[in-house]
Amino acid sequence: MIILVINAGSSSVKFTIFDMADQKKVLASGLIERIGIEGTSMKYTNFRGEEVKGEVPVKNPKDAVKIITERLLDARVGVLKSMSDIKAIGHRVVQGMEKIIEPVLLDEKAKTIVRECGVLAPLHNPHNLMGIEACEAVLPGVPNVGVFDTAFHSTMPSRAFLYALPYKYYEEDHIRRYGFHGTSHGFVAKAAAALDGRPLNSLKIITAHLGNGCSLAAVKNGQCQDTSMGLTPLEGVIMGTRSGDLDASAVLYIMKKDGLTPDQADNLLNKKSGVLGLASIGSSDLRDVEAEANKGNKLCAQALEVFAYRVKKYIGSYMAALGGLDILVFTAGVGENSSTMRAAICQDLEGIGLKLDAQKNSVRSPEPRVVSTGDSPIKIHVIPTNEELAIAEATLKLVG
Ligand code: ADP
Repeated sequence: MIILVINAGSSSVKFTIFDMADQKKVLASGLIERIGIEGTSMKYTNFRGEEVKGEVPVKNPKDAVKIITERLLDARVGVLKSMSDIKAIGHRVVQGMEKIIEPVLLDEKAKTIVRECGVLAPLHNPHNLMGIEACEAVLPGVPNVGVFDTAFHSTMPSRAFLYALPYKYYEEDHIRRYGFHGTSHGFVAKAAAALDGRPLNSLKIITAHLGNGCSLAAVKNGQCQDTSMGLTPLEGVIMGTRSGDLDASAVLYIMKKDGLTPDQADNLLNKKSGVLGLASIGSSDLRDVEAEANKGNKLCAQALEVFAYRVKKYIGSYMAALGGLDILVFTAGVGENSSTMRAAICQDLEGIGLKLDAQKNSVRSPEPRVVSTGDSPIKIHVIPTNEELAIAEATLKLVG
């Protein structure tokens, strides 16, 4: 069964097409970016390694889906014989609140909920919805399935998801921790159990998704117990450009002092803070910051230290929340690739059962692997995440 996965954002549409019957093979993938801005371009790669790059006349998500299907059917670089080969479309949707807690068929009722949930994700849900409606228009009759970033975290108990605000803000305004990256946390937790050879429902796992956006999740018996992102992706550990946790009074102080509007404060915390803000070299990419730190830049070295320390504190607190730990999993851009950051996070954790093997940790590989010592009481894994495949699998399960 051939499944198209769509991730529609504010100015981009990413796509991957899988042949689930042929070992879940990726037939083609790519993205269209700068939609609605000058210089809209497309990148397309197929399984034969053929690549097409260049400007495309795309003004909205519907044009984008149309161009994607044209490439998929192209005589030269295409991978499909007919549009009817596409049996279902899986969509990444960011916020499902408490209303959608598992993958759903996106009928009118579900789409109304996606629209309503946009109140808490105004930068994401409306764009996700446009992607869904674009697919309905270009591929009529093909089922659309929504896979929600928040869904995996829906098993969190209230002690983990409530904020200590007047209760009416939860009851009336639905202000609570929702968590994000759920598709990734769920995928790597399952893969870690498989790598370990023990059933997921017998394990205590902490998943550390460290990419541009970063979050951790505490997973017991396959169910999320807590996660570091909150009402929005701003809370938790330090990220490329997001501050993560801080005293809310600091924000109020800065807003008053600099006369910032709520939108300006939002921009400061989400786009100008985190590693970008602390390292002060104009880059949020950990590779650049690591390179500068190695050359002796003290602010960069300090930024890396603050980043690692915050993750370490979350690991400790989630071990307490879970009442122990079997596996710590690193995933996403930083977690999968930066052996230095993994080492910094795991430094001095031998006393609580986490022994990183320096040699295994230094090996680069695209495969899931164990990087703890043979005698480490708690295993440490590096598991490449694959949110697109997780969405395709969930879609197949629902429509297959
Ligand atoms: P996103 O959250 O956008 O999906 P990714 O998971 O792809 O991001 O992570 C991107 C980040 O991963 C980059 O900004 C970079 O900081 C980091 N990264 C990628 N490769 C390396 C590496 N070899 N060493 C350190 N950091 C890396």
